[in-house]
Amino acid sequence: MANLVHIPEVKDLARKTPIEIFPDPKIAVVLTNQQGGATNTPTVKIGDTVTIGEKIADAKERVSAPIHSPISGTVIKIENAYNSCFEAPTEAIYIENDNKKTKAKPLTCITEAELANTKNEDLLKIIREAGIIGLGGAGFPTSIKLAVPADKKIEHLLVNGAEGEPYDTADERIMIERTANLVRGVRVVRKLLGNPKVIIVTKESKVEAVPKLEEAFSKEPNTEVRAAHLTYQQGDAAMMQKAILGYETPAGKRSYEMGTIVQNVATINAIANAVFEGEPLISRVTTLNGDVPKPKNLQVKIGTPVKDILSANDVNLSTLSSVVVGGVLMGTALQTLDAPITKRTSSIICFAKDKVKNTKTTACIHCGRCVSACPVRLQPVAIHNAVVKGDFELAGKLWANDCIACGTCSYVCPVRLPLSHNVKMAKQ
Ligand code: SF4
Ligand code: SF4
Repeated sequence: MANLVHIPEVKDLARKTPIEIFPDPKIAVVLTNQQGGATNTPTVKIGDTVTIGEKIADAKERVSAPIHSPISGTVIKIENAYNSCFEAPTEAIYIENDNKKTKAKPLTCITEAELANTKNEDLLKIIREAGIIGLGGAGFPTSIKLAVPADKKIEHLLVNGAEGEPYDTADERIMIERTANLVRGVRVVRKLLGNPKVIIVTKESKVEAVPKLEEAFSKEPNTEVRAAHLTYQQGDAAMMQKAILGYETPAGKRSYEMGTIVQNVATINAIANAVFEGEPLISRVTTLNGDVPKPKNLQVKIGTPVKDILSANDVNLSTLSSVVVGGVLMGTALQTLDAPITKRTSSIICFAKDKVKNTKTTACIHCGRCVSACPVRLQPVAIHNAVVKGDFELAGKLWANDCIACGTCSYVCPVRLPLSHNVKMAKQ
């Protein structure tokens, strides 16, 4: 096992700031594809009127998750916009807000009393129709992840509240402010998985969240809140399974085959909203942090341009060197601030020009730090070199597929080579 590198957190201000509702955008830029799996196509056309929560893009394939309108208004264009999920421009539906806040009919949902007698296939249908995907960054459709084959027994549900990304606090605020909703969401997931033991995994540093979770889950059967001392890398599902349950998933196997499902708290919150309120996934909590006047957590509509959020929060755009979304280590540096919030935008982190140290890269000095820091024992520098030469076959032989995209190799590299970016490319 590699020595897990400790990465200091920059959370003090944001973690103490309650979630604030960010106003709806004038024009929402809703990317038709934000999920892993099949490609969605628009179900609306230019000139159509849409309502809040109305489905606007979908796919027929099983591994998919639809997209819904976050606002009411008119579809004014359908064309490419920068998509931080794929680090490239992809199709987007532009909706002009009519400010009428007209809501679509809620999705089919159930009461809490009906949960025990609701068939699992009906619950999975609600989760699918609500467009829920892994909000911890993975983006895989949740209805597929939770449809575990009947012959696979799930022993443990790990509820991932570790939020290791050094600047992110959105999950922490959800655990503090939406604890009761998490209890409801966990009941749904537990039922789907055949009643496994539940461990709510968070970090001991989340001092406000831990007692709230302990109290809220105290009466739930076979449930434990574990406030552990975890490194950043142990927020990854596979690493968490190893840290909490003591075993690894062998290469080529999925964690459910080992009897474990790991589900992030923001996703569980969205599941409760869908199953009990009929709400599709049209907004999420995201952290605004870094070189900003006031670090905070915002409930923001999917499709809101990042530029709107920065301007409304008095961030001087001309002073910025870069803006990273989805976590400074695992996320993406935006190519344009016109990029919209996606279901996977857990944070928006700003870096000012005068605070950024020299970003010039030089040749590898063979210090070996990236190799000893990689939590899954890869050789990041060797994979990077293969990618630079265009030898993706070699990158594959070097197990690039096992990369958990934690970004630690780039973090420790003294000459700032874009190691994790290139390993990610090899994986793709
Ligand atoms: S990004 Fe991938 S290669 Fe780099 S340290 Fe993390 S797991 Fe290893
Ligand atoms: S950390 Fe950077 S400089 Fe050191 S071996 Fe890896 S790539 Fe080379």
